[in-house]
Amino acid sequence: MAHEQSFLELIEAWDGSGVVVKHDELTGSWIFIALHDDTLGPMVGGCRMKTYACPEDGLRDAMRLARGMTHKWAALDLPCGGGKSVLAIPGPLSGADRRGLLHRFGELLNTLDGAYGTGEDLGTTPEDMRVVADVSKHVVGIHGIEGAPSDPGPFTARGVFAGIRSALRHRHGTDSLSDRTVLVQGVGDVGGPLARMISKAGGTVLLCDLDQNLAFAVSVEIGGSVVTQDNVYQTECDVYAPCAVGATLNPGTIPSLRCDMVVGSANNQLESNADADALAERGILYAPDYVVNGGGALAFTLIHQGQRNVAELDRRVRGIGDMLDEIFAEAVAAGESPLNSAARRVERVLQNAKNKD
Ligand code: NAD
Repeated sequence: MAHEQSFLELIEAWDGSGVVVKHDELTGSWIFIALHDDTLGPMVGGCRMKTYACPEDGLRDAMRLARGMTHKWAALDLPCGGGKSVLAIPGPLSGADRRGLLHRFGELLNTLDGAYGTGEDLGTTPEDMRVVADVSKHVVGIHGIEGAPSDPGPFTARGVFAGIRSALRHRHGTDSLSDRTVLVQGVGDVGGPLARMISKAGGTVLLCDLDQNLAFAVSVEIGGSVVTQDNVYQTECDVYAPCAVGATLNPGTIPSLRCDMVVGSANNQLESNADADALAERGILYAPDYVVNGGGALAFTLIHQGQRNVAELDRRVRGIGDMLDEIFAEAVAAGESPLNSAARRVERVLQNAKNKD
């Protein structure tokens, strides 16, 4: 995507509390830490490592993701604020170069003195986070518990699965996956476990990934089918589950969609909020991304708070489905999109916290 705004214009338009920008000369990367809102507590959000067309796109991504984290924490009513970091790398980075960049990122985190804590996100791994933790204590979610996944992806997938069931209940009065087809776009840490859960529950799974071999391997494992990149938005299915990149719901794709509902983990699925109305006009039920993809954040926060019971963690993550039931019902009652109902819920939580101060 060609950049539309300069660094200065992006920062001028930013409604967050601040940004940290550093050029990493040794790797030619840019480090962006976007600090959005600390009303509910210290800002927490993952670290994305990705190659962008230009550095401005990396900063914009960090800002959008940080705002999404504010919404996610508030929707979950957890005591964290919204922040996010992006390591905009010029190309694939491995070995000593990768470790060096991660260490320097950790040192930059230390200068914030706990105002922001990071974790794994798209393009980074639990191992990367352990490297950051060599130099910084501001890494969250690396101390798992026995019997639970050591990365947030499977918990996030469980939350999305609960979200799919909620959307099915809302639309069809039953959350059975038999005779339902779910198209999972992105078969990574979230999409992979999600595809397995859907298949296990009797649903038909269609898979798409930039890495066709990966999509093919998982489809063989679970008995699904692969959809090519070109056909994702025209493929008929009950549920489209975006679990890869953001902005896949936009004026270019929405008119072609042949699904009844969109429920997935990707952050910032809508290119703009107007796309939620466009989906509603087409009769497509949209589960707000920051509500449905909160399972990993919720589980790791509970672990951090001392929760050690895996069944209890699962129960709390499945609660995301109950929350969506309420949001869908509120949207119908108010005659609005679920995005608006979710936003009002967030606003209520933030306002309550401000009133207590
Ligand atoms: P991941 O890096 O493990 O997997 C992403 C997969 O998507 C990869 O297999 C990649 O090849 C594929 N992909 C990338 N671009 C694609 C495209 N244009 N079309 C099809 N496939 C594409 O990432 P993840 O951890 O599974 O996260 C997926 C999404 O969910 C991201 O947007 C992430 O921000 C969001 N998310 C993840 C978590 C989590 O717990 N991991 C939590 C909340 C939100």
